[in-house]
Amino acid sequence: MTAQPGCVARQNTCINVAGLIEAVHTAKVNTMPELPEVETMVRGIRDHLVGRQIQSTRFCRCYCKPIQISPSKQKLRQALRNSRIHAVQRLAKRIVITLDHSRSMVIEPRMTGLLLLTAPPTPAHRRIRWNLDPQPGLADSFEFWDRRGLGTVRLFNQTELAELRDQLGPDPLEMTPDQWAHQLARTRRAIKSALLDQHLVVGIGNIYASEILHRAGISPESPASSLSAEQIAQLAQTSSQILKDAIRYEGSTLGDGTYRNALNRQGGYQNKHCVYQKEGELCPTCRRGQIRRIIQAQRSTFFCPRCQRT
Ligand SMILES: [Zn+2]
Repeated sequence: MTAQPGCVARQNTCINVAGLIEAVHTAKVNTMPELPEVETMVRGIRDHLVGRQIQSTRFCRCYCKPIQISPSKQKLRQALRNSRIHAVQRLAKRIVITLDHSRSMVIEPRMTGLLLLTAPPTPAHRRIRWNLDPQPGLADSFEFWDRRGLGTVRLFNQTELAELRDQLGPDPLEMTPDQWAHQLARTRRAIKSALLDQHLVVGIGNIYASEILHRAGISPESPASSLSAEQIAQLAQTSSQILKDAIRYEGSTLGDGTYRNALNRQGGYQNKHCVYQKEGELCPTCRRGQIRRIIQAQRSTFFCPRCQRT
């Protein structure tokens, strides 16, 4: 639908703006893929990319919503030509590819973006293909695929990358219980909503927030700053455990089948979920409670009221 400037009723405009703000807010705090899926992408491509030279960048013809590319297609193509890849790392839910001259290409897959070494799920949603210098036994290219087009590909210098790091909270795979206590003391919001706030802790989205709180036995409605030291220690340990397990299983591919690893294969952790999208089912932990779904900050939360008492 195209915008109709000048003839949109004020009320509708407000609704649209409110909807837009919510969509932007939701995209910021809760995007799939989450930490385990992005870490799986990084591990899937790293060995094929590090030490290689990008020979050329091809922007694929795609008739869907375009992804965001900055500074521009032309400048990105020029900057990458013959640039060597020095490292491939994860920063929160982004992939950071370190290049020559202290520059980095930062890719944020957001809802439906994938980094692939093989043929994508659909040719129509191919976005960018990077051709590498040929090496025996290694992929000769990698590409970014994005069905909905919410992903971003940006070129950063060192200062810009440092600024991005400063905006983000700590990584849950590296946080100590003291760091957890410090971050959670900053908000009285419900712990489930706090876990989605990328300024407090990065990488956790709707799936893993519900799963982590369930295994930690913490009610999603407890105010973050009210957790006891024992609960915080449990949360720290459980977060690390669940995220590492999910990485081991190469992430969660939900019913829509969108998330795939670098070889276009499904993850396996969806089969290990205890509560996520299991409303009405018997709790697999206590085998007596029934999984409930509630809405918190416009997002569904799944939990067992018996295991996770307020
Ligand atoms: Zn239970």
